[in-house]
Amino acid sequence: MPMTVVNPATGKTLHEHDEHPWSEVEAAIEGAHAAHRAWRRTSFEHRAERMRKAAEILRERTDPYAELMAREMGKPIGQGRSEIEKCAWVCDYYADEAASQLAPVPIDTPDTGARTYIAYEPIGVVLAVMPWNFPFWQVFRFAAPNLMAGNAGLLKHASNVPGCALAIEEVFRHAGFPEGLFRSLLIGHDVAEKVIEHPLVRAVTLTGSVKAGKSIAAKAGSLVKKTVLELGGSDAYLVLEDADLDATVEACVTSRLVNSGQSCIAAKRFIVVRPLKEEFERRMVERMRAARTGDPMDEDTDVGPQAREDLRDDLHDQVTRSVAAGARCLLGGAVPDGPGAFYPPTVLTDVAPGMPAYEEELFGPVASIIEAEDEADGIRIANDTVFGLGAAVFTRDRERGQRIAREELDAGACFVNAFVRSDPRLPFGGVKESGYGRELSPLGIREFMNAKTVWVG
Ligand code: NAP
Repeated sequence: MPMTVVNPATGKTLHEHDEHPWSEVEAAIEGAHAAHRAWRRTSFEHRAERMRKAAEILRERTDPYAELMAREMGKPIGQGRSEIEKCAWVCDYYADEAASQLAPVPIDTPDTGARTYIAYEPIGVVLAVMPWNFPFWQVFRFAAPNLMAGNAGLLKHASNVPGCALAIEEVFRHAGFPEGLFRSLLIGHDVAEKVIEHPLVRAVTLTGSVKAGKSIAAKAGSLVKKTVLELGGSDAYLVLEDADLDATVEACVTSRLVNSGQSCIAAKRFIVVRPLKEEFERRMVERMRAARTGDPMDEDTDVGPQAREDLRDDLHDQVTRSVAAGARCLLGGAVPDGPGAFYPPTVLTDVAPGMPAYEEELFGPVASIIEAEDEADGIRIANDTVFGLGAAVFTRDRERGQRIAREELDAGACFVNAFVRSDPRLPFGGVKESGYGRELSPLGIREFMNAKTVWVG
């Protein structure tokens, strides 16, 4: 079946790609395994040289790759350039750090008379199932640590970004990685399942929706294959009565609108204590209204189209049902006329339990404001979700903020007076239905390693 890619800014078909037949997929799996067997014997210096070259290629091709993302999934061009720079950063980071992060860890067992230690050994071919929202970054944050660690990677990218998938494969090929060590497979769900079933495929990492995560994890689990799941989020931003409102609103709007609202760690629920609520609403509306929506190729655009029309329609349905259930729409909330999958920056308030804006992830430029009585009530609401990816708290009292972030908020990353972001040096991942396992940092590179006990008597 051909994959048809539609430019979400215009609604026009961009290009079509044929899916890879099973015979080619099978050959790719075998090729990746063969490449891994030789690659795992190479030194970290040898791998790092190629990984730094990949970073160099990314920096050289920043503009064409940013344009490719803008065309395939509507990312504003300036944000696309930042994404490519971040990919180069994660390549350099693991080129520098992999050797020390995977060095054997001696364990003192004097009573045994033996030398004992943990050795980190690569497990082999890992399948990565990835989403369209950060089409380069999501892949590089998996590939950089795993190729440095000696594993091989097979990518099943989202079906609306095949151009990005093929471009990433090219980066690794041009950087001098062995043929077949990293391959992009243009395949659908059924074939992805067959890839998981293949005995040479040892593990799966998936970034995407909870529904996809449950399905892939069930399949991999039935075959006793490890998974890492990076799923959805509905990050709560808790605004306390002593918050610096100017800085808080700035952080909230930046986070809500990044990638046109389509980020797993975008701020989604704004939980504001009663005395600040009206002023917070006023300022949010003012700042969200000022965001420029339009052509993702235009340098001045803050918010591009949603990545696909069906996703835009789903988002609008969530907004409509929330308003029907009693939320007040202070800004936006209507599908604009004209071509493309655009949706305006939208502010909902008086959001309450039972509404989609309270219970579900709203993957677009829609801010949901929820009133809290006080700190304790705010914490309760922040945790009243199936998700647990990120969260933030805003208060002038840094100790108070730290206590809430560390001890109270049930999420994988909790920030004080700042919006949640990823950084190659820090672990990234969730709890609850946001998934399990960690990417990035020293933890990420160890996910698909055999932490082997070695006993030398
Ligand atoms: P999605 O529909 O779950 O798709 C993600 C990937 O999974 C795509 O490659 C998709 O392929 C594939 N897929 C879906 N169901 C599958 C199945 N049954 N078998 C095999 N492959 C399957 O998610 P999305 O709409 O692209 O992305 C948005 C979601 O990702 C949001 O919930 C967001 O929060 C989450 N996300 C999480 C993180 C994180 O780090 N935690 C980061 C980014 C995004 P097709 O395209 O062919 O359907």
